[in-house]
Amino acid sequence: MVDKWFMDDGQLYMSPDAVEGNLRLLDRHLEAAGSSRGRVSRGDDIKSTARLLCPPDRSGEFNGWATEYVRDTCKVVSSADAIIVLGAVQGPVAAQGDHFSKLVHKASLVHHAIDAASDPAVELILKRKCAGVCKVMFTLRAAGDSLDKAHLQAYDLLLRDSLGRSLSGDVGDDSWIQATCGVKDSGLGFRTATEVSLPAFIASRVAAWPGVRSIFRDLADAGLADEDVLAHAYQQRTTLAQERFCAVLSAEQAAAAHASILEAAASTEHFWQQMLQGQQVSSNRPGAAVRIGQELVDAAGYQDSESPTTSLFGPSKLQNLLCSLHDDRRLMQLGERLQREGKHDDIRRIRELRSEHTDHSWMWVVNPVHGPVLPADEFSIASRVRLGAPLLLDSMLCEVCQKRVLDVKCTHALCCSLAESTIGHNRVKEVIHAGCSISDPGACMEAVGLVDSQPNLRPADILTRAAIPNRTAALDVGVKCPEAAGAGDDCTQTMVEEKLAYYAAILPELERKGITYCPITFSSFGRRHGTTSRIMQEAASRAARFRGQLNSKQMLRSWSATVTTELWRRVARMVKACLPKVVGSEQLSQVDEG
Ligand SMILES: [Zn+2]
Repeated sequence: MVDKWFMDDGQLYMSPDAVEGNLRLLDRHLEAAGSSRGRVSRGDDIKSTARLLCPPDRSGEFNGWATEYVRDTCKVVSSADAIIVLGAVQGPVAAQGDHFSKLVHKASLVHHAIDAASDPAVELILKRKCAGVCKVMFTLRAAGDSLDKAHLQAYDLLLRDSLGRSLSGDVGDDSWIQATCGVKDSGLGFRTATEVSLPAFIASRVAAWPGVRSIFRDLADAGLADEDVLAHAYQQRTTLAQERFCAVLSAEQAAAAHASILEAAASTEHFWQQMLQGQQVSSNRPGAAVRIGQELVDAAGYQDSESPTTSLFGPSKLQNLLCSLHDDRRLMQLGERLQREGKHDDIRRIRELRSEHTDHSWMWVVNPVHGPVLPADEFSIASRVRLGAPLLLDSMLCEVCQKRVLDVKCTHALCCSLAESTIGHNRVKEVIHAGCSISDPGACMEAVGLVDSQPNLRPADILTRAAIPNRTAALDVGVKCPEAAGAGDDCTQTMVEEKLAYYAAILPELERKGITYCPITFSSFGRRHGTTSRIMQEAASRAARFRGQLNSKQMLRSWSATVTTELWRRVARMVKACLPKVVGSEQLSQVDEG
């Protein structure tokens, strides 16, 4: 039997003349339970506050509500003062700004503490998941439409500064815009308060509406307020925020935003009605479809809203959809400017990264249980290349070829350093072979004697029966940089055509033996050719069946993460090879280890 209870942030609304009577009733019940709110006259520290909710110029009409008893048991605050309800400030805009500044300071301490991890991959995940805009999200949801721009920008500066510390230096203006976009849109998911403020506010208002409407009805039933007046004020503020959000979007994007908002409102209403009827609430909550114990270890990136392994629901889903529309707009503007400035390599890189065939899961592989982990320096270089951020103060002669200029972003390195390119290609090949070998233990690498007319020819990096139904596949793995000479608009397709042309003469002979020659190509930035995606899906589903698993998602996820990690390791090592070798650095690291 529970005979004591604790009420945190409890709120009672009543008419001014009923305050003392209700407080006396509450206190009688508290005393019967052996508890008390305390008394000023007894020298107690009083926690309760009482406040007249009314425009300041009309407060004179209600004089006398704060009786001696009310003052003895509550701190009586002015109607004009701000109050904190459930952690969010209600009241003057200036008070909200002050509160936000305190949150920024607190978040800054968290960011500096995370720096101690000394691992950029871990830091990026923690900074996004535990110390990103989420630190101020509650305030943005409550008041994102009214916070001062300068306050929001203070938080954004903190984030950019923190990203620079994790990635060995500031990333530059263009790369920062990219970093603040979602991961699937080429960014790092370092969402700024400025960009998130309206999506967070709108999503929260839409999701809260059925509950808020119910409170408005209760207030009306108690004779405390007019339901229609309250509902109108609520909806008007929400609509104004939506209009401000859509004003900067294209007509098509604004229509998409409206559709998402309507859909979220309908689904919230449905959710609320189910709850009222005491029904089991169905939703696509993360983990709902996963049986307990089905996965011993959560997938890499699980619970990070930027990761494709996490399914969002409710306000977070709508907020992400709205943020994604914002990303579209900002990346379009960035693209137009890069075009004017002739930065075509940046345009190509962002396009590669935004493709639906690009896998970003390497960014979450920080635990060896999920696959090979990039060391800190390689992760940092890979992340800077992803963002097109400078790695050098000034361009210099390439260490490898000693002929070409190594630009500050080291784009040249992705087309140079043949040795590291080949090592990286071989690692990707080994990982593809490992995936195929699960359901086809006979899969072999570099098979010889496939072509009777030219027995020394080795067209198959991997010869396997796991890739194409009822056929033996000769998989030829290729990685190409979009900046390579003759890469064309789609470097993965160009490479497929090059390989097919190279082996054209022997393909009929292979076909007669039941072998299908199949190039599987990747861009340096991790984009897969459509055929590559299909082959990996087929091999993963065979592997899952072979292991008796119900679905192949988990298998494909970890296989893709390993492949993409090797692709980015290749990038980092090619860049490292082309960077100038500093005399004495090896001795220094030996001293370190000693
Ligand atoms: Zn070079």
